[in-house]
Amino acid sequence: MKIAVVSPHRGDAAFALDLTVAAWLEQGHAIEVMSCFTRSEFAPYSDVRSVHANDRVSFVTAVRKREEEAWRKRFGAAKLAITDLNVKDAPIRLHCSPEEVFGRPADVSEKVLSKVRRALEGSKAGAVVLPLGLSGHVDHVSARDAALSVLALADLPTAFYEELPDAAAAGAEGAIEGAVHALSLSLQCELQPVYATEPRQTNDAIVEAVQSKRRAAWCYDSQIDEAVTTQIAEFCQRYQGRERLWVNAAWLRGGMLMHE
Ligand SMILES: [Zn+2]
Repeated sequence: MKIAVVSPHRGDAAFALDLTVAAWLEQGHAIEVMSCFTRSEFAPYSDVRSVHANDRVSFVTAVRKREEEAWRKRFGAAKLAITDLNVKDAPIRLHCSPEEVFGRPADVSEKVLSKVRRALEGSKAGAVVLPLGLSGHVDHVSARDAALSVLALADLPTAFYEELPDAAAAGAEGAIEGAVHALSLSLQCELQPVYATEPRQTNDAIVEAVQSKRRAAWCYDSQIDEAVTTQIAEFCQRYQGRERLWVNAAWLRGGMLMHE
């Protein structure tokens, strides 16, 4: 089966779904990660400040592309495809500060979002995985809603992932519940929690999952520091070394790609 994963920014899919992607690739599925808002000057842990203002977007865009390539290479010869939709991220596109991207209303009629729609329509994927939109980051909500506007959800297995580090923040349980509830209402489908893998049985096996996530997150070291890397890595402990997905009825009917 071909599975399309929408990653608003480079790193979103890796942070939230590294273990899931590994498991699906091992099962022989083809995965296409669609990285949407890849033109960016957001790289707080890079040396972007030493770069001339006119060159920052190309500098950061290239740094982040290399980071994602490093993540892709972790899977070796397995078939992880990454598509770069090459859209400007919110601060550049909407002329706002990096702090103003949260809770800003998303406008799915934005012309650039047709790239997301076209990519999904052209992908011929048998299942689609989208961000929950936990933080309210306008790029996450825009990518999610642009995708939802073209997918025939009644028949298409569709899942939503818990973005990290957002899902690991204090009090995020409520944000997850709220996002799942709102999506269930708008999709008229009760989303259910599932996992791509079985729970890891031993403490060693869970530690191994945490280490794997730490290595995946560290691929993106222009984006996160040590503390956030640890938050991302250790989040899978609460699911016994797994990542949780919220899925629609078509996904459940398919009966594959999941454990309860
Ligand atoms: Zn993001």
